[in-house]
Amino acid sequence: MSGLTLTTTSPEATQAFGRSIGEALEVGDVVLLGGTLGAGKTTLTQGIAWGAGVTEYAHSPTFVLVHEYAGRIPIYHLDLYRFDGAASVDDLAEVEDLGIDEMLETGACVVEWAERATAVFPGDFLEISLAEGDTLVERVLTLAAHGTRYESMIIRLKDAGPLDGRTT
Ligand code: ADP
Ligand code: MG
Repeated sequence: MSGLTLTTTSPEATQAFGRSIGEALEVGDVVLLGGTLGAGKTTLTQGIAWGAGVTEYAHSPTFVLVHEYAGRIPIYHLDLYRFDGAASVDDLAEVEDLGIDEMLETGACVVEWAERATAVFPGDFLEISLAEGDTLVERVLTLAAHGTRYESMIIRLKDAGPLDGRTT
């Protein structure tokens, strides 16, 4: 399984890395984000959305579960924060009712707190875990490919080389 770990040293650097992910996104892609509150999931999502051609600002959709942004392709930004760790069958049904399969027929999904309902997502996805680093402005991003589509995406991201403010 391919992986990539990098450290960013500012919110802007996290957004810049997100942009390169967003540029690579195609219809049907799934990006699952993990990490505690304040780790930078929404910040990264802003960059992903911009890279996918979205011009509006991506806010956390905590209370609505999903926001759709119009870009080169639609970006569906989900936030499953309000589900607790052991999502109940009813909770999972509510996420299923969002129609993730339909979203993936037209666009790509970027999901915060995805670990709270992994069962509703396809088996192939790009996993990105965010964690605080040694200083207040450092974040460690760990990417893991689940499926060949995302293995090649990670290889392309590696080939793109380091950006300002992030090191691999
Ligand atoms: P989450 O969605 O994971 O709860 P947010 O993206 O909403 O996190 O918030 C991350 C916070 O951390 C923001 O206030 C942001 O300015 C700050 N921050 C500091 N350094 C970084 C960094 N390197 N990358 C991303 N966010 C950072
Ligand atoms: Mg968030």
